[in-house]
Amino acid sequence: MSHIGVIGAGQLGRMLALAGLPLGHQFSFYDPNPLSPARSVGALTVGAFDDVERLLSFVDDCDVVTYEFENVPVSVAEALTERSIVLPNPSALRFSQHRATEKQFLQANGIETAPFVYPVPTVEVLLEAVHQLGGTAILKTCTLGYDGKGQRVIRNEEDAHAAWKDMGEAELILEGVVPFDREVSLIAVRAANGSCYSFPLTENVHRDGILRRSTAHLPSAGYALQQAAAANVHGLMDALHYVGVLTVEFFVVGNRLIANEIAPRVHNSGHWTIDGCYTSQFEAHIRAITGLPLHPIKQHTAATMINIVGSLPDPQEVLNFSGTHLHLYDKAPRRGRKLGHVTICMDDDYERDAVAAQLEACVPWVV
Ligand code: AMP
Repeated sequence: MSHIGVIGAGQLGRMLALAGLPLGHQFSFYDPNPLSPARSVGALTVGAFDDVERLLSFVDDCDVVTYEFENVPVSVAEALTERSIVLPNPSALRFSQHRATEKQFLQANGIETAPFVYPVPTVEVLLEAVHQLGGTAILKTCTLGYDGKGQRVIRNEEDAHAAWKDMGEAELILEGVVPFDREVSLIAVRAANGSCYSFPLTENVHRDGILRRSTAHLPSAGYALQQAAAANVHGLMDALHYVGVLTVEFFVVGNRLIANEIAPRVHNSGHWTIDGCYTSQFEAHIRAITGLPLHPIKQHTAATMINIVGSLPDPQEVLNFSGTHLHLYDKAPRRGRKLGHVTICMDDDYERDAVAAQLEACVPWVV
């Protein structure tokens, strides 16, 4: 049994504990928000992510420290390694905190990304770069962007000047628009001995820049795409000497996989694995960081997850559909905020899709 310290106490931390408590582990969390969702599944220390002294004393009692939030300053995470075992090792954070560094790292490992121009120091460079990338492009802040925040589509000169006015102070990257057929993510886990296992590719549908639905079966994507995505992600994890769960989001264009983002953690698109796999992404992460055995990942039912955003559903209504599981995160409703998710598990894809379509109508989306 290990005492696991988790930096960040959001819903991902909460679900890590819900998977790790039955294995006999004990959890403590560190987060600036005293009302964090994980407060009911472990002791919560309230503090800023850059308060090194407070974090050092937090990790002192822990056998192993992990994160559910990738924007912990790298220097802070590195300082913690002096006092405790930190997994995954903090170098993974470096590549996920900065969009240009992330793309360079992906390309250096033979993985295709969207074309991009970096840096974008002036509006003149921006105008030229938009032209170079084909006339339409996406301007993004290099750091701290998530759920479509910190990004703007630029279609003409007017858009470029307006975006520059709003975003010009930040460090920016301009990306070409990828004409994707669909978006998928691959979640994989690597043990300390180097064994890697992948979850099935998940197809993701976004709305208003936020994940709405993740579906675990991709009948038309097939085995080759799964193998290619797994080879890419396992290669990245080997390069990082990674221990734990890591996620890569890809665009799919025909048979090509174009990587968009690396998340060095469990991921929203893998929540279906709690109800749809023998070992969930959360349990896989906990097993990896505590040295417990891992095995090839197996899915046991067709599953779709729908995110609950902005307002709470009526549990009677949601659970009235057979095969549904409701997961609420104990968060106060607010526009655009992820409050929970519903997973629909069925014996086959066809039945699952039919129920998911009906169920989606009763799962709130308030942004
Ligand atoms: P991100 O914050 O990079 O994950 O972007 C949020 C969403 O915006 C993605 O899931 C895509 O739907 C869309 N998007 C971001 N970058 C691109 C791109 N280069 N080409 C096409 N769509 C994109």
